[in-house]
Amino acid sequence: MELRIRYRDLRVTDPEYKKKILDVIDSVLSHGQILLGPEVEKFETEVARLIGTKYCIGLGSGTDAAYVALRSLGIGPGDEVITTPLSWIATFNAIYFTGARPVVVDIAEDLNIDVDLIEQAITPNTRAIFPVHFTGRMCDMTRICEIARKYNLFVIEDAAQAFGARHAGRLAGSFGHTGAFSMNPMKVLPAFGEVGAVVTNNENAYKFASSMRYLGTVRRDTCISPSLNFKIDTIHAATLLVNLTYLEKRIERRVKIAKHYTRELGSIIDCPNVDLGADERCVFFDYTVKVRERAKLIEFLTEKGIETRIKHPILMSDQPAYAYLKYPQIPRARRIVSEILSLPAHEVLSDDDVDYVVRAVKEFYRRN
Ligand SMILES: *Cc1c(COP(=O)(O)O)cnc(C)c1O
Repeated sequence: MELRIRYRDLRVTDPEYKKKILDVIDSVLSHGQILLGPEVEKFETEVARLIGTKYCIGLGSGTDAAYVALRSLGIGPGDEVITTPLSWIATFNAIYFTGARPVVVDIAEDLNIDVDLIEQAITPNTRAIFPVHFTGRMCDMTRICEIARKYNLFVIEDAAQAFGARHAGRLAGSFGHTGAFSMNPMKVLPAFGEVGAVVTNNENAYKFASSMRYLGTVRRDTCISPSLNFKIDTIHAATLLVNLTYLEKRIERRVKIAKHYTRELGSIIDCPNVDLGADERCVFFDYTVKVRERAKLIEFLTEKGIETRIKHPILMSDQPAYAYLKYPQIPRARRIVSEILSLPAHEVLSDDDVDYVVRAVKEFYRRN
């Protein structure tokens, strides 16, 4: 059968929305400040205000942001950075390029780092905890920050998947010493290209990140610390200012779809928890279930024209690139990585699309 439900759908079809995007691009072409134009600062001000941090710095990608967020706190060679094994490899690579060593801690059933296991992974070389709010669900930042205070560690949030997510009434990115976002076209707040941002309340981290953004330079001509080029494009900042006005609507739609899935499928497969208190919000970058007979289910859904994803089939610590590192036992991550499957749950889906997916999953488990 032909593809009927895409995992993501990045086409721009609404004419009114398309016009807004084309208009802001037009205005950037007219003023001609293609690099670090006025829209960049507006975008940064807007994101900082929204997240509740003093500073935001726009960057070229979420990977850049993760790297700059670590570097701007001085993380480097000899340091250990505690993180999860289940994330996109950008998380590990960002640590790697600072010169620090990634240390993994097993995950909990909610797919995030198991906070109960963090303390036993701390050594004299540990400098930071780098939690990932996987699928747009926040880690228990209250407890992670407590542990960090107790051991005098930095906290850097990989909030790439969690723009707009909340914990204890505060937004992702506002808990850590620095926080990194991705605005790539798949993310909850998407750009039409590669974008990332770092947020922080720390003035020194902000200043260092600003200089790192372009070759480690200050006052245009002086290089204080070698870096590469991590600049955000003005056109992306301009379109993101438009997309920010749609953010709440998008998140609300995702949450609604997630609630529907969990209500309909929760008795058949292991669905994400959607009953969160008013102070908590998962933004469902992905709607990830745990299933048995995964390969057969994928095949069945594909035949029905439903696209799914496994995110991610290989734990970061199992990647060939990191074979040289010795890792502790992570039994839960190992089991869970063989069970996870992400269903299409993006805001473009209609109620009928969502019901179609629900019916297909139900049909599969009636037969199997
Ligand atoms: C997307 C993502 C990144 C990297 O962002 P890019 O903008 O694609 O470079 C980093 N960490 C996580 C958890 C992500 O999902």
